[in-house]
Amino acid sequence: MYEHDVIVVGAGGAGLRAAIAAQEEGADVAIVTKLHPVRSHTGAAEGGINAALREGDSWEDHAYDTMKGSDYLGDAPAVETLCKESPKETMQLEHWGMAFSRDEDGRVSQRPFGGLSFPRTTYAGAETGHQLLHTMYEQLVKRGIEVYDEWYATRLAVSDEERPEDRTCHGVVAYDIQSGEIAGFRARKGVVLATGGPGQVYDHTTNAVSNTGDGVAMAYRAGAPMEDMEFIQFHPTTLPSTGVLISEGVRGEGGILYNAEGERFMYEHGYANNAGELASRDVVSRAELTEVNEGRGIEDEYVHLDMRHLGEERIVDRLENILHLAEDFEGVDGIEEPMPVKPGQHYAMGGVETDENGETCITGLYAAGECACASVHGANRLGGNALPELIVFGKRAGQHAAGRDLGTAKIETGKRGEFEVGEVETPVEPGEISGGEPGDVAADGGKAADGGATAELTPEECVERAVTDERTRVDALMSRDGTNHANIRAKVQKSMTRFVNVFREEEGLKQALRDIREAREAYQDVAVSDPSRTFNTDLIQTIETRNLLDIAEAITLGALVRDEFRGAHWRAEHQERKDESWLKHTMLSWNDGTPEVWFRPVVLEGEDKRYEPKVRSY
Ligand SMILES: Cc1cc2nc3c(=O)[nH]c(=O)nc-3n(C[C@H](O)[C@H](O)[C@H](O)COP(=O)(O)OP(=O)(O)OC[C@H]3O[C@@H](n4cnc5c(N)ncnc54)[C@H](O)[C@@H]3O)c2cc1C
Repeated sequence: MYEHDVIVVGAGGAGLRAAIAAQEEGADVAIVTKLHPVRSHTGAAEGGINAALREGDSWEDHAYDTMKGSDYLGDAPAVETLCKESPKETMQLEHWGMAFSRDEDGRVSQRPFGGLSFPRTTYAGAETGHQLLHTMYEQLVKRGIEVYDEWYATRLAVSDEERPEDRTCHGVVAYDIQSGEIAGFRARKGVVLATGGPGQVYDHTTNAVSNTGDGVAMAYRAGAPMEDMEFIQFHPTTLPSTGVLISEGVRGEGGILYNAEGERFMYEHGYANNAGELASRDVVSRAELTEVNEGRGIEDEYVHLDMRHLGEERIVDRLENILHLAEDFEGVDGIEEPMPVKPGQHYAMGGVETDENGETCITGLYAAGECACASVHGANRLGGNALPELIVFGKRAGQHAAGRDLGTAKIETGKRGEFEVGEVETPVEPGEISGGEPGDVAADGGKAADGGATAELTPEECVERAVTDERTRVDALMSRDGTNHANIRAKVQKSMTRFVNVFREEEGLKQALRDIREAREAYQDVAVSDPSRTFNTDLIQTIETRNLLDIAEAITLGALVRDEFRGAHWRAEHQERKDESWLKHTMLSWNDGTPEVWFRPVVLEGEDKRYEPKVRSY
């Protein structure tokens, strides 16, 4: 068994920042990651980091824009923390050597981004995430922080008290992709999940194949609720053939959207008469699809994003990466031609429920970055607000896990404080499917495979027990004949893209839920055909697929339950935002495989003001 004070799972922007912060507090910290740190998906971030750095701007304006962007489903204490701390954390990156783009006078450049009232997005060309990741990785190496890379975390070691709020996380179990070893990692002080987003739930996504929502699913099965999973961001400018992202930076620099009739539809069809192309992402995505659905799309599929008028010099200076992406993936020269774009899955606003210190309701378990929901994005994330989330909440989670007192959180977690038990009619019968799989004799929720209680065990014994359970599960998956995971995964991805997309209708959502439950049934018979113990991607993807099923179900169930139109969540039958009944978060708790839905009121009270919901227009 490996042992450290703090174990961080994931080495993207959130994980690296958490590890650095925990070490600065004096903790012995290690990172467990399925990819080498600089291969993490943060490296794909293009556009920038929002931070109120300049005269004329303020964290209060940033907070106002973020609350409005969230369609009043962001929790004000988390939003204000983000906006207050982002400038300092962005400057910290600069002091560590991050190569930000600069203006003629030497100041760090800032550009406009969708939904922002001030051009406050700092950037490094169109490779902001790459620069950020490498800058923090240098700090990791300099500090000698231990990294277990190509170790795939599969299960949390959590005690099994009845109420999740009484449980403690003692560590994590991981699988060494190189050798096939399954080992326990005991965390003396805390585990920080920083495993990124779940984009692979969809088949048209800007996310990497590694983004399978592992941390969210693991935490869910261990008892930490998932929050606001129905809110998925669809980015309006992805390349149609692959889902590769064309940064919002293009529109920030002045790029224009046209339909097949050459109309600048954002204005000409009245979708956003003030902000035009720089309206919030949900608004632009819906506008594009409306154009296509009403017959004004190109090849019935996409619209054009034109940056030719910016001129070669400016494009090469600020958006060079975009030229390569358009050329490599669509064969289009962005200096000479408009680029084809359509909406694609991009970001999950929901995730593991945490407070503004990154803590979940389980003692010793933290989450930060895209896998977490603090919640700063509510029903819709503003472009450029995820990278500051990584550095602000990654740092706070790392500090808190290492033992620093950050004060009492204002956001409650778990079934504490004010909450409402959901009276939800199950729209589709769950049937007999428990959500487990062969060999997974028990849920991951701390319950031991032999049925014994883990609450009385020492922390080391709790981790050992989880290792034994995991070995049982992997042995079962590898020693039987059965179905391959690939078809199951593909079916769910297709169904999610078809039915749980930008536009959502009740019948489609119900069909998606049926498809997911059929996939769950098929998964009961899943088996790994590759018998090797080294680099067994078949095994890894089989386990990932199980995580995707839990996440897909949560997204779809949340989408069915929330019968209103808010932010990125559009419902055909419910065309209005219902503030009287829906100023609340959708919570989902693991209940032996049948998700339990409940609700928590949104916190609109900030430090010294309340963010009153207003009509959200751009
Ligand atoms: C193409 C693209 C462009 C973007 N551009 C911007 C932008 O300009 N500005 C902005 O604010 N936001 C942007 N975003 C969003 C933002 O980049 C992401 O939300 C953010 O980088 C996620 O960081 P993370 O640290 O949470 O996760 P990631 O960077 O995805 O890292 C996840 C880590 O977890 C590890 N991991 C996962 N599962 C396991 C497991 N089971 N065991 C062990 N390790 C595991 C992985 O190895 C990886 O190291 C963009 C997103 C995309 C997809």
